[in-house]
Parts: sequence; structure tokens; C-alpha cells
Amino acid sequence: MISETTTVNVTELFISIQGEGIDAGAPSFFIRTSGCSIGCKYCDTKYSWSRGREWKIDDLIEEVLKAEIPEVVITGGEPVEEKNLSVLIRKLSEIDSIRKITLETCGHIFRDDLGAPKLKIVLSPKPPTMGVEFPERALQKFLTTYEDTYIKFAVYDKKDLKVIRQFTYRNAKLIRKPIVIQPLEVPFENYVETSKRVSELVIADREFINDFEVKIIPQLHKLIGLK
Ligand code: SF4
Repeated sequence: MISETTTVNVTELFISIQGEGIDAGAPSFFIRTSGCSIGCKYCDTKYSWSRGREWKIDDLIEEVLKAEIPEVVITGGEPVEEKNLSVLIRKLSEIDSIRKITLETCGHIFRDDLGAPKLKIVLSPKPPTMGVEFPERALQKFLTTYEDTYIKFAVYDKKDLKVIRQFTYRNAKLIRKPIVIQPLEVPFENYVETSKRVSELVIADREFINDFEVKIIPQLHKLIGLK
């Protein structure tokens, strides 16, 4: 039941550029939901794990309209753990001035109630370097349920690349083009160095880059010092 008091727990709202994936560079309004139970070792948004502030969805919509930015990114934390996420997405999709709504999820928890016009789901499963299990079953369900979806794999080293490679070949029929590989930021290595090293690692895998359309896209906002 949707009411005027339906709320979403939010850590922060901010304006920046989309720094990740195939839409990198798009000016965007970000809604960062609170809470994540995944527990990645090198999570770069640990501050979103605890409870943020309850926002009425109508008030959130007002902030989006005030910002006058046509692309909205819902990120986290893990937005899929927010019980009223589908209400928020549907309300946003009804706004004429909103061109695109991007939902960023690690893809570990499947939900089938998220479909809405203008919604793109970016699945960003965490690799072994993050110390969590790779969510193969949940990813398969997302890819078979939602049309406008793609995978953005975080990669730090050879063992991460091996896991995403195995997943990609096993699920080749489900994979949409292109496959994005995002160098994973870790606290003990400069991100430019990581991006260079991961790019070389992927380019060296000639079989993989010939069999699939691969794009290596570092986190642009981090490289230029934006949030
Ligand atoms: S899924 Fe994302 S927010 Fe959650 S712990 Fe991992 S990196 Fe952090």
C-alpha cells in the first residue's frame, strides 16, 4: 500500500557525474540508500551501512525536481535491501522530466518487483578480492527478469578475472553487451596504478576480449576527485 508517508532510508543525496559503467560522464542526481548486509572487505561506502534518515518519498521527489537533473542514480549501500525501493522507482519513473533511473546493485539479492519505465539496472557483483561469495544464481535471475540490465564486474587481480570469466562463459546466452570491467579500488594501491594494471591484465586475455565485447572503465569520479 502506497501512502503519502511511505519512506525510504537514505544516507545522502548529492549531485555529481555518473562515474561508473557505460553511462559514465552523465550529470546525475544520486540517492544513496542506507544499509547493506553484504560486508565487502574493501567497501568504499561503509558509512552507508548504518541507518540514515527516513525520507518521505514525496519529499525525495521534491528534491529531485528542485535539482533539475534528468538522470537519477539510486545507489547504496545496497538499495535492493530497502523495502520501499519499488515504490520510489515507480514514482520517479512517472516524472516527465526524468530521462533515466539507474539502479546500482551488487546483485546478491534478487527482487522481482522493480520493473518500471526508464529503469536501467546495473549489476555490480563483488569479486573474490572483496571476500564475499559470487552471486551467480541471483545474477541469472536479474538477467532473465529485467530487459534493461548489464553487468559491471569489479576486478583487482587474476583470481577476480578468472571468476568473472568463468561466469561469463557459463552464462554467455544471458550476457548483454558490452561487459564492463571496472578496476577495483583498494586502500593499499593508488587507483591510477590499479586501473593501469587491470587494463593490461584484461587486454592480455585475447580469447576473452575476442569472444565478448569488453569495456574497461575505471571509476571516473575518483580519477577527477568528485564524489
Ligand atoms: S555491496 Fe557495496 S555497499 Fe555493500 S559492502 Fe559491498 S561494496 Fe559496500
